Amino acid sequence: MYNIVMTLDNLELHTPYLMLDGEFYDATDPEPLKAPYLVSFNPDAAALIGLDESVRDDPRLVELLNGTFMPRGGQTFSMCYAGHQFGNFVPRLGDGRAINLGKTHGWNLQNKGSGETLYSRMGDGRAVLRSSIREYLMSEAMHHLGIPTTRALAIIGSKTKVVRDRLEPGAVVMRMATSWVRFGTFEYFYYTGEHAKLQALADYVIDESYPHLNEDDDRYYKLFCEVVERTAHLIAQWQGVGFNHGVMNTDNMSIEGVTIDYGPYAMLDDFDYGYICNHTDQAGRYAYGQQPNVSYWNLTMLARALSPIVSLERTQQKLDDYGAFLYPDAYVDVMRTKMGLLEPADEDVELVKELVGALHDCEVDHTLFFRTLSRYDGDHGKLLDIVVDRDVMDAWLERYDVRLAQESRSQSARMEAMLKCNPKYVLKNYMLQEAITLAEQGDHSMVETLLRIARHPFDELPEFERYAGDTPEEHKNRRLSCSS
Ligand code: AMP
Ligand code: MG
Repeated sequence: MYNIVMTLDNLELHTPYLMLDGEFYDATDPEPLKAPYLVSFNPDAAALIGLDESVRDDPRLVELLNGTFMPRGGQTFSMCYAGHQFGNFVPRLGDGRAINLGKTHGWNLQNKGSGETLYSRMGDGRAVLRSSIREYLMSEAMHHLGIPTTRALAIIGSKTKVVRDRLEPGAVVMRMATSWVRFGTFEYFYYTGEHAKLQALADYVIDESYPHLNEDDDRYYKLFCEVVERTAHLIAQWQGVGFNHGVMNTDNMSIEGVTIDYGPYAMLDDFDYGYICNHTDQAGRYAYGQQPNVSYWNLTMLARALSPIVSLERTQQKLDDYGAFLYPDAYVDVMRTKMGLLEPADEDVELVKELVGALHDCEVDHTLFFRTLSRYDGDHGKLLDIVVDRDVMDAWLERYDVRLAQESRSQSARMEAMLKCNPKYVLKNYMLQEAITLAEQGDHSMVETLLRIARHPFDELPEFERYAGDTPEEHKNRRLSCSS
């Protein structure tokens, strides 16, 4: 089945979520955008659902996103969930501007920006071109960086005007996830006291995302354990690559431990442990350096939500493990790989701590530092030239030299491995903004350029060399607005 070349004619959807109780979702009709047009199409994502690249030229692709063409078997619905936003519980959130169409090849298709739903609260149900481009490109970039994430099939723009800080063009991005269930989905049924539905949700999630647990008598506890472990790995990867999500509310935490809901995120420019990408996050709850702590807090909220079906005593033990070694070990593993160290040593924890401190003091571009380190041959000069505080970096490199000497792998093998895990290109906000500005003027070429860069983070792409260096001074470490 997966090998058959498919067109929109034989794309077939099914809707297992609709087998759950009616409180889990609401049937929603999309409100089409005016004069829709294709902005970008992602053949990699299309291939995941068996669609051929020629779909790009099928006028129904735009209609699929605009809600005026529905593949066979599809049904439109929005999902209900709750969540802790900046630490405060909100009893009902839900897909305020996302409409699901159904599932194919294991991927749940969802249009974001299709109009008001039962869960829109004060919102207009719309998404603007700016935020749609950001989600589309970054989810693809994360995937190619090896970080679990949702994907995106395409974007459409339109003549519909959407009110934000200014009037902006309305857009729809079609996102794909192997699960759209969030920690907040469990919280909804915990706080409404509907424990039978909570259990039905857990069974649904196990069936969809953890099917090996299906027959297990202890499946709810094991489900929690797997979510904890996956989250540890996810956050470790975010920290390693310098990704700041920006809105780690529990409704933006995936039950599969993948990156979801791209908002005011940023890749680090100059390394800053306290960097806050989200302009509305005054207190820095979701600052880069806080992400491990916040993920722990979010997992405690999930444990509480699961308490009617798994004892808090058992989930607390797992949470303790998260803080004690699951997350720290995952993080040190990521960093060890980034530093090109193959054989674990006890001193690595200290080496990583000192590196983080040094990077912070050195105000050095995160991506550029690790890429430069990937070609380190014992000559400190090239690294000292890109940092502000040469003495601090020199001292760290002395330690690194000692540590490298313990490794049995050859220098060239180390360099080769490091060049495959330390990206040359990440999508920084200034690059995304260039693409957005052009796209708002009708020129989509840079979206395509960035899609190409997103797909090749570890390759040398001489024509895009300018994006591999330091972020231009005026664009460094800026904050982004949440209004999207
Ligand atoms: P977020 O933090 O962006 O993932 O969104 C938080 C909640 O607000 C979710 O329930 C969204 O569906 C909802 N939301 C965000 N923007 C809009 C909008 N423009 N219209 C309706 N609901 C929205
Ligand atoms: Mg969200």
